[in-house]
Amino acid sequence: MKAQVKALVVGGGAVGTSIAYHLARHGWDDVMLLERDELTSGSTWHAAGLLPYFNMSYATTHIHDYSIKFYKTLEEETGLDAGFFVVGNLRMAQTEERMDEYRLYASTAETCDVPFEWMTPDQIKARWPLINTEDLKGAIYHPTDGYINPADVTMAMAKGARQRGVTIERKWQVDGYEWKGDHWDVTLTKMVEKGGNLVPSEETTVVSAEHVVTATGNHAQRTAKLLGIKMPAIPVEHQFIVTEPDPALVEYRKSNEQHPVIRDADAKWYVREERGGWILGPYERNAPARFIHGVPDSFRADLFPLDLERIEEEYMSFIHRIPSSETVGLKDDFNGPICYTPDGNPLIGPAPGLRNMWLAEGFSFGITAAGGAGHYLAQMMVHGEAEIDMASLDPKRFGQDWMTSEYAARKNEEAYDHVYVLHHPDEERPACRPLRTAPCYDRQKALGAQFGCVNGWERPNYYGPLDADDNFDHDARSFRRGAWWEHAKAEAEAIRSSAGLIDATAFAKHAVTGPGAAEFLSGFTCNKLPNVGRINLTYALTEAGTVRTEYTIVRRGEQDFYLVSAGAWAAYDGDYLRKAAEDYMAQGGGMVIVQDITTQWGVFAIAGPKSRDILNALVVDAEPGTVLSNKRFPWLSMRNIELGMVPVMALRVAYTGELGWELHHPIEMSTYLWDRLMAAGAEHGLKPVGGRAQNWLRQEKSYRAFGHELGRDATPLEAGLDRFVDCTRPYHGKPRMLETGIRSKCCTVLIDGPADADPWGREALYTPEGDRVGRLTSGGYSVAFGKSIGMGYVRPGLAQPGTKLKVRMMGDLWDAEVTEDSPYDPKNETIRKDG
Ligand SMILES: Cc1cc2nc3c(=O)[nH]c(=O)nc-3n(C[C@H](O)[C@H](O)[C@H](O)COP(=O)(O)OP(=O)(O)OC[C@H]3O[C@@H](n4cnc5c(N)ncnc54)[C@H](O)[C@@H]3O)c2cc1C
Repeated sequence: MKAQVKALVVGGGAVGTSIAYHLARHGWDDVMLLERDELTSGSTWHAAGLLPYFNMSYATTHIHDYSIKFYKTLEEETGLDAGFFVVGNLRMAQTEERMDEYRLYASTAETCDVPFEWMTPDQIKARWPLINTEDLKGAIYHPTDGYINPADVTMAMAKGARQRGVTIERKWQVDGYEWKGDHWDVTLTKMVEKGGNLVPSEETTVVSAEHVVTATGNHAQRTAKLLGIKMPAIPVEHQFIVTEPDPALVEYRKSNEQHPVIRDADAKWYVREERGGWILGPYERNAPARFIHGVPDSFRADLFPLDLERIEEEYMSFIHRIPSSETVGLKDDFNGPICYTPDGNPLIGPAPGLRNMWLAEGFSFGITAAGGAGHYLAQMMVHGEAEIDMASLDPKRFGQDWMTSEYAARKNEEAYDHVYVLHHPDEERPACRPLRTAPCYDRQKALGAQFGCVNGWERPNYYGPLDADDNFDHDARSFRRGAWWEHAKAEAEAIRSSAGLIDATAFAKHAVTGPGAAEFLSGFTCNKLPNVGRINLTYALTEAGTVRTEYTIVRRGEQDFYLVSAGAWAAYDGDYLRKAAEDYMAQGGGMVIVQDITTQWGVFAIAGPKSRDILNALVVDAEPGTVLSNKRFPWLSMRNIELGMVPVMALRVAYTGELGWELHHPIEMSTYLWDRLMAAGAEHGLKPVGGRAQNWLRQEKSYRAFGHELGRDATPLEAGLDRFVDCTRPYHGKPRMLETGIRSKCCTVLIDGPADADPWGREALYTPEGDRVGRLTSGGYSVAFGKSIGMGYVRPGLAQPGTKLKVRMMGDLWDAEVTEDSPYDPKNETIRKDG
């Protein structure tokens, strides 16, 4: 065995094997793949091998698309048949709402170039007469996917990897990782067979690796412990059953092709043919999480007992859909651990807090995702960045500080249970809530707040009716304008006409101090640093010059900075910031201290033309009438003020684009401050406002949002943020940002859309002539213009104000026009208003 390699991949399932293959393919010639048992002996061996395209996420759709195309090439490259049956994939709908879900999904599919067709119940019946279509509304059909033999595709990738120089070592288990400053020393133990079990022997060795990737499947909890990090990757039981041959199917197949993979999403199952019979895979309720504290040594390529009772409902609905199956007996069953994460997507990317350590864990559709995950992770490792923004799959999207195994287990059970729920874009999942609550949670709840969950925090999405029952928000969801829409509209109008109060406590907050702070931040971010007492919007870039993080930087002293970034991304942002500060110091820079102070500060944003009047009633100052005037408190500045008995670090910024302040205050005083603000605001029409209204309002100002317009697939210049980019000094990512040029450009569009729907920020954009030229990344409703609004990216020449476009919404094309940036109050007169 080699003692030293460039990259060590741990785990010989579909995922690890693909990563090893792709690292070699992207140019690394010294890669080793390690497996404690045999290749495919983890979850990979018992997967049903379906390769569904369907996915509501842009990044994941790209990953699945890559896999499906890549697997088709493996035989030519390796001579091994990967066992890919391109039978197509039929996803049926029993309700119009389900069809709406497919229409929304189709937006993502369209922007990722995924082929699909629509089918009516009659068309389905004509083509596949064994399917009972009487209660169907229609289906979406993917002709180019199907199913694959998981072991065969893994073996083909392994052969391809070997051909490209990868070494594969089996029966070696990783038992320790030690970072040596520029490489990892990885301790391995030789595994031996004993009484049918696989047990560690006395033989150990150490391999040095510059980079390590873990792809340890169901063993993720053990890997997390060895690395000293948290990973919410915990398996859940998943079963499928195989029937005896169905005579009707056998007869049908004498003169017909194989059925596609069939999904009845409303019945929560998939079905495919298997040797004249059927495989039925249900996603039932109450599937339990397993191996919360690690996989026992006795569990090898084992299975759990079948729990037929748990899947009875799905079984009955299968018989209803394919009546010929009623008399067919069961031949086989599989109940295996399927790894999940709280949002059902894998963890792909750099490990929190560690150097050169990459995670590829928590795959629930690992056969489908392996190819693409390997490709894009290898791009990140070899070239510094992937061509798509992988942030939505980054391991750090779940917090490190507050996450527990109990939380992950319950959320993962929920994620499994939700595989076939209607994926409303306004869905909020209920498990493990409320958990992280700001002090005013009860106050807001009493006012009708309907909460969303951001990084575990409860944050009002909107305020519903006071007499709303517990199901109000659930029933208010829709692919179109849900019952919450009128409430969000009233809130947005309140901010434009009087005032609104938004709880923004979930914001990520970091203090950066120390003698090296200013110099470090100057090399870390792309805008000029603000002067003391002032605020700037700025961006930390990736090596590739794209946007890694958006910060509002407040300079509290010469070497004292307060950084505010998106609430959902506290661990993701903090990790990058801390590692960059360590690098700066390692290269001889002055001392920099980075502290995550998110949970120390409560934040309220007050905005609207009356916001100054409301604050004036509370501010304590020798000259209270002038504290908030433009002279004493100009736009984009910070002042320490007192509101009643609360010391407030007030920032004159407003994400809604209206006159306003963010009130950062000691979190333990939040309730007192909330009460005072609400009382003072009563006579001015102050309304509590949730995140949905805020999201609409910021689009009227063309304010880009992280995770939407801003991410690792666009530079700040492509995002149209030139005024926040200082080209006069060097900083991280600048050379490649300039080199990249403008591939596509961010713009804002006003849309003459349907009367009952707004875009969600994933719709395709066309020219009036029908050329697809871009996609939306945000969407909503504009109260200022009385129509739908969106932001997105188009070919550079088409981002000019006045350009006519079309937006595909709910299957139809609607007129849209590119506006100037900030269509509402383009001169910022309301924000800068004096008083
Ligand atoms: C019943 C069932 C049906 C499924 N059907 C499908 C399907 O149709 N389509 C689909 O896409 N997905 C399906 N899945 C999910 C799929 O099986 C997994 O997502 C996929 O196999 C995960 O692959 P992996 O490489 O991440 O993990 P694994 O296949 O579990 O591989 C991890 C490997 O790491 C090794 N390992 C762990 N720790 C160490 C260590 N310390 N040192 C060395 N080696 C180590 C293990 O031995 C194992 O071989 C199904 C799952 C189940 C349970």
